[in-house]
Amino acid sequence: SNREMTINLGAGPSCLPTEVLLQAAQGIIDYERTGMGLVELSHRSSTFIKVVKSAEADLRQLLAIPEDYAVLFQQGGGTEQFTATALNLLAAHAVKNPDYMSQNPRGPPCDYAITGSWTSKALKEAKRMGANVNVVVDSRKEQGADSKFGCIPPVSTWKLSPVESKPAFLYYCDNETVEGVEFPSPGLAFDQLPEEYRKTVPIVADCSSNILSRPIDVKAHSIIFFGAQKNVGPSGVTIVIVRKDLIVDPDQGVPNGGPRVPTTLVYKNAADNGSLYNTPPTFAIYATGLVLRDLLENKGGVQGAAQRSENKSRAVYQTIASSNGIFVPSVRQQEVRSRMNITFRVCRPGGPPDEELEERFVKKCSEKGITQVKGHRSVGGIRTSLYNAITEEQTQVLVQVMKTFIDEISE
Ligand code: PLP
Repeated sequence: SNREMTINLGAGPSCLPTEVLLQAAQGIIDYERTGMGLVELSHRSSTFIKVVKSAEADLRQLLAIPEDYAVLFQQGGGTEQFTATALNLLAAHAVKNPDYMSQNPRGPPCDYAITGSWTSKALKEAKRMGANVNVVVDSRKEQGADSKFGCIPPVSTWKLSPVESKPAFLYYCDNETVEGVEFPSPGLAFDQLPEEYRKTVPIVADCSSNILSRPIDVKAHSIIFFGAQKNVGPSGVTIVIVRKDLIVDPDQGVPNGGPRVPTTLVYKNAADNGSLYNTPPTFAIYATGLVLRDLLENKGGVQGAAQRSENKSRAVYQTIASSNGIFVPSVRQQEVRSRMNITFRVCRPGGPPDEELEERFVKKCSEKGITQVKGHRSVGGIRTSLYNAITEEQTQVLVQVMKTFIDEISE
């Protein structure tokens, strides 16, 4: 089929395992012989509640999520979580520190590590919400950065807010999808944060584009969120893992100067109602559940995914490294080059990026069925996204196209 001949390396929504989509297609029409499609069932039916619960249980198992963390299925995408994380944590801060705002009218500092486009957007949103933001690092401004994102300065150099100022949270993005900048495994170096800071300041991670591709230390975080549509499922559902003691009724913080939080963004509403406060995206949750089950039962869980991610990205980066300057990584600091989104430019050997050659490369890819490899419009060049559903065999097809291209240009 056309599908079998296609290798979709798009950055998101992205490729999902064919077996899972076939199962989902069946479920849409007639879910487990109920005579009704999954998308036609009431979200309050026991059948659908089981779907949510089993997706949650599988996710808990895959990521070793402790009992004192809630798992919420939200709508609104990663973008809505830019708002929701800030507002819910500011609300929690106001509930827990009733006198704070009267003494500090600007509100508690909100620390942001800016390493790419998505953290920039989260920061912009926090400012819109009136938060007292503090940029702990902006990797565009590092020496040699020529105003582009392409490195992650060591955590020990970040300009964190003093613990005494009671920061509301520290926010970072584990994998910047647009630029292809990822915290090197095993992730953010928590041991480089001052102990007191690490123990008292809630840490928020946007893991939209690399969740389930390697283990993550859930306990070191207060919130981990991710839109499903890259590594996990179709678009429409965003999963939030949040430490339960931070889930408050925001209205209780309002008299103390805390923010008003729109109903659908209030984590407590989702948590108290098993993510069924209002109608959830039932299909997206269902299909996400199928992907989670498939990863757990057939693909070796997160460890299996991590090993494959390592193999796939290594193969592509090695090809880039041995291309005689024809392929040039867009991310200058080697250690932070993403395993998920591999960004590079195409050049004549020794020359600057050549858009005409890039078009030629995109065409060569498409002749072999490889699609959606054009870089994000803000970065240019090429971006190949190797999410969990992309196999090692498919990655080898890409590597072969790259090698053939190198030979052609070198001639
Ligand atoms: N964060 C990251 C790392 C992303 O890659 C994206 C989307 O590509 C978002 C946030 C925004 O997600 P959404 O489009 O679901 O709002």
